[in-house]
Amino acid sequence: MSKSLQAIRGMNDILPEQTPLWRYFESTVARLLDNYGYKQIRMPIVEFTELFKRSIGEVTDIVEKEMYTFEDRNGDSLTLRPEGTAACVRAVLEHGITGGGQTQKLWYIGPMFRHERPQKGRYRQFHQIGCEVFNLDGPDIDAELIVLTWRLWGQLGIRDAVKLELNSLGTSESRGRYREALVEYLSAHLDKLDEDSQRRLKTNPLRVLDTKNADTQAVLVDAPKMADYLDDESRTHFEGLKARLDAAGIPYVINPKLVRGLDYYSKTVFEWVTDKLGAQGTVCAGGRYDGLVEQMGGKPTTGVGFAMGIERLILLLETLEQIPEEISRQVDVYLCAFGEAAELAGLALSEQLRDQLPSLRLQVNAGAGSFKSQFKKADKSGALYALILGDDELAQQVVSVKPLRGQGEQQSIAFDALAAHLATCIVQG
Ligand code: ATP
Ligand code: MG
Repeated sequence: MSKSLQAIRGMNDILPEQTPLWRYFESTVARLLDNYGYKQIRMPIVEFTELFKRSIGEVTDIVEKEMYTFEDRNGDSLTLRPEGTAACVRAVLEHGITGGGQTQKLWYIGPMFRHERPQKGRYRQFHQIGCEVFNLDGPDIDAELIVLTWRLWGQLGIRDAVKLELNSLGTSESRGRYREALVEYLSAHLDKLDEDSQRRLKTNPLRVLDTKNADTQAVLVDAPKMADYLDDESRTHFEGLKARLDAAGIPYVINPKLVRGLDYYSKTVFEWVTDKLGAQGTVCAGGRYDGLVEQMGGKPTTGVGFAMGIERLILLLETLEQIPEEISRQVDVYLCAFGEAAELAGLALSEQLRDQLPSLRLQVNAGAGSFKSQFKKADKSGALYALILGDDELAQQVVSVKPLRGQGEQQSIAFDALAAHLATCIVQG
C-alpha cells in the first residue's frame, strides 16, 4: 500500500478557518507600516548560499545547521532564505537604491526556512514581517522601529503580554575589546563551561552569553559586562535610544546577555518577549547592523531593522483571545434560489447588488438543493441574512429577506429597493 502524501514536518498548511486571522494580522501591520512611511520590498525566496554565509556568519546556528541548501541543475549552491535581511541588503545593493547615502525605510513579508526541531512556535517553514532602514544612523530611527511595534501591540491588544529587552553590543571596535576580555575570562573557567560554549568560545564567544546551561550561566555571573566596554559613540547612541523610549512611555529592561543569534549586529539589539507561549517567547527581534552592507561589498551604509514571527504572534492572539469579532463573520448575505428561473434571476440580481454595494459579502448558493438544504448552508455560512428567491417572489419581483441571527421578522423587499435596504441593515466590518 502506498504511503499517504503528507506535508513536510514543520511546514504547515494554513487552513481556511485560520486565514481570516492571518489576513487581519497582516493587513493591520501593512497599514501601520504604510502610515509610518515604510515601503514594501519583495525578494526571491531562494538565493545563492554564499549570500547567507557572508552575511549571517559561518559560525552561527543558522548557517552551521539550519539552512535548506541544495544544488541547482547547473551546479550552483542555492539556499531557501532563512531570514530576510541578507536578501534585502543584496537587493538594495544590486539596484543601487541606497547609493549616495539615500535613505530607505523598507518592509517585507514572507516565508523563511530553517531546519530546526519543530515544536509549538518553532517550525521549518515560518513567516516573518520585517523592516530594514538604511542610511539613518541615529538612535531616533532605532526608537521609531520600537515605537511602531509598540503601537502594533496596542492595536492588536497584546501590549500587556509583551516585554521589551534591550542591549547595546557597541561598535565593532568596542565589541572587539569586549570579546577579548570575555575570552580571557571564560578561558580561565574553561572546565566549567558546557561543550557547546567551549566550542563557541573559539568561534563566536559572545554567543556563550545566551547559553541555557546552568553551570555556564553560573560562570557568567562574574564575567566582564559589555556595558563597561562601550565606547563614547555607542554609549551616546544607547542613551539617546533610552531617552526616546522614555519620552514615548515605552517600558523596557536592559538585558546585558542579549546578543542575538546573527553575527552582523552592532550597537542596538532588542527583543520583544512574552511569557505566554512557553519556551518560544520571542515574538519580534532586531537591531542595528552598521557594518553589514560594507561586509557584503557595498559602500559604508548603516542599517537597522527587526523581524517578527507571524506564527508566534498568531498564537499569542489566540492564547489571549484577542480575535476581533468582525473577522469571524465572512459572509453578510446568502442568496437561496429555488428553481431554474429563480436561479437565473438571482444571478442577475446578485451581480447588480455587487455593483451597487461593492463591499457587500454576498454568497450565492451553488448546486441548487431543497429549502432545507439551502437554509442549512445559508446558516452555516455565518451570513446575517438569507435572500430567498422562489417562484412567488419572482412573480412579484421581490426578495424575501430572512434574518438568520434573530434580528426581527422576514421582509419582502422589491428588487430595486434591495440594495438600499441591505445598506441600512448590514454594518460593514
Ligand atoms: P529563536 O531564538 O526563537 O530561535 P531567532 O533569534 O533565531 O529566534 P530571528 O532570526 O531573530 O530569531 O527571527 C526573528 C523572529 O522570527 C523570532 O523572534 C521569532 O519570532 C521568529 N522565528 C525565528 N525562527 C522561527 C521558527 N523556526 N519558527 C517560527 N518562528 C521563528
Ligand atoms: Mg533560532
